[in-house]
Amino acid sequence: MELSATVQKLKPSATIAAAAKAKELKSTGVKVYEFTLGEPDFITPEHIREAAKEAMDAGHTHYTPATGIPDLKQAICDAYERDHGVKYAANEIAVSNGAKHSIHNVLTALCGPGDEVIIPAPYWVSYSALVELTGATPVIVSTSEESGFCLSADQFRDAITSKTKLMMLNNPCNPTGACYPVEMIEALARVAVEKNILVLSDEIYEKLVYEGSEFRSFASFGEDVKNITIIVSGVSKAYAMTGWRIGWTMASAELTAAMTKLQSQETSNPCSVSQFAAIAALNGPQECVTDMLKAFVERREYVLSRLSKIPDISLATPGGAFYAFFNVSHYFNKLLQGGVTVKNSTEFCSALLEQAHVALVTGDAFGAPGYVRLSFATDLKTIEAGFDRLEKFLLPE
Ligand SMILES: *Cc1c(COP(=O)(O)O)cnc(C)c1O
Repeated sequence: MELSATVQKLKPSATIAAAAKAKELKSTGVKVYEFTLGEPDFITPEHIREAAKEAMDAGHTHYTPATGIPDLKQAICDAYERDHGVKYAANEIAVSNGAKHSIHNVLTALCGPGDEVIIPAPYWVSYSALVELTGATPVIVSTSEESGFCLSADQFRDAITSKTKLMMLNNPCNPTGACYPVEMIEALARVAVEKNILVLSDEIYEKLVYEGSEFRSFASFGEDVKNITIIVSGVSKAYAMTGWRIGWTMASAELTAAMTKLQSQETSNPCSVSQFAAIAALNGPQECVTDMLKAFVERREYVLSRLSKIPDISLATPGGAFYAFFNVSHYFNKLLQGGVTVKNSTEFCSALLEQAHVALVTGDAFGAPGYVRLSFATDLKTIEAGFDRLEKFLLPE
C-alpha cells in the first residue's frame, strides 16, 4: 500500500506517544510515575455529568447544526463577555470536536502551500504538524528561558515576510507555563494590526493562572485587534472534560462560515450530548474551576520547591497551565542511575523511564532541546514519589 505523502510526513503526537510508552511499561506490571499527559486527573464535575445524562434521556441524541447548537454558542458568547468584557455574536462561534480540531479547521480554512505561519518555540506538539498538513510552512521563532519563554514584539516583527499568513500564540503556554504579561500581549497585538497578520490565540488554559500572573485575552485590546484575532478555547482543561471533545473558535463571521462549510463535510457536528454538558459547564456554578485550581496551586508549589532543590536544573516559573518545563542539559554526558549516560532530552526521557520508571516528555518534541516537560495534573503523592525517583536518577551515590 502506498500511503499519501502528507500522512507519511506526519509525525505522531509525541505526548501521546510518550504516554503510550509509559502505559506499555505499566502493562508489564511495573509501577510507573506518569507525568506525560496534559489532562486534569479530576473527573468531570457532577452537575456537568448530570446535564449530559438529562440531555440523553430527553432525546438529544441526533445530529446538530454543523458547528454547534444555538444555546451552546450563546453560552460561549456570554461566558466570554462575562470573563473578558468582549462581545462576540453567535455567527462568530464555531464549536468543534475539541480545540485541537478547531485549530485544524482554522489552518485548513486559511493556509496552503506558499504560506508561512509563525510559531514561537517552545510550542505545543500539534502546532507545527497541523500547519504542515495544510502544505504551509511553519516558521519557528525560538524564545528563551530568560524572557520567560515569551515572544517579543521585535521578534514577531522580524519573522514577518510577505508570505506570513498567521501567527500562533498559546497563552498560557503548553509546554512552558508562560503567561504573557499584559503589555507584551498588547505589543504583539499592535504589530499584528500594523502588519495585518492574523493571530490564532489558543487560550485553552485561560482559567488556570497563578498568583503573580495576569491573563488577558488577545481580542481584548480593541476592535482593530479583535478583527485580526482568532480565539481558540474549550472546556477540556478548565472543566476536566478532555474526553468530551468540545472546543471552539471565536473569529470573523466570514472565517466562521468557511469553517462551518469545512466541518459540515468532515465531521457533520460535535457530539450532541457533549454540547449539552458544555452548556452546563459554562452557565453553571464556577466553584468547580476554583476548586481544581486550588489543587493545581498546591501541586505547582510543591513541584517548584522540589525542582529548586535539585542542583543545576533551571526553569522559567510557570505562571499558568499545569506544566513545569525545565532544563536538564547539565546532566547530559554524566553518569546517571544504573551507570547510563544520555546525550539529549529524548535519550534522557527514555533512560528515566527505564531506570526510574518516571515518565516525562522530551523537550525535543516542543522545539526545545535540553528541556523536559513534567505535567503536574496528577496527585501529590505521585508527584512526591516521582521526584524522589528523579533525584535518585540524576544523583546516584
Ligand atoms: C490540551 C490543549 C488543547 C486542546 O484540547 P482539546 O482537548 O482538543 O480541546 C489545545 N491547545 C493546547 C495548547 C493544549 O494543551
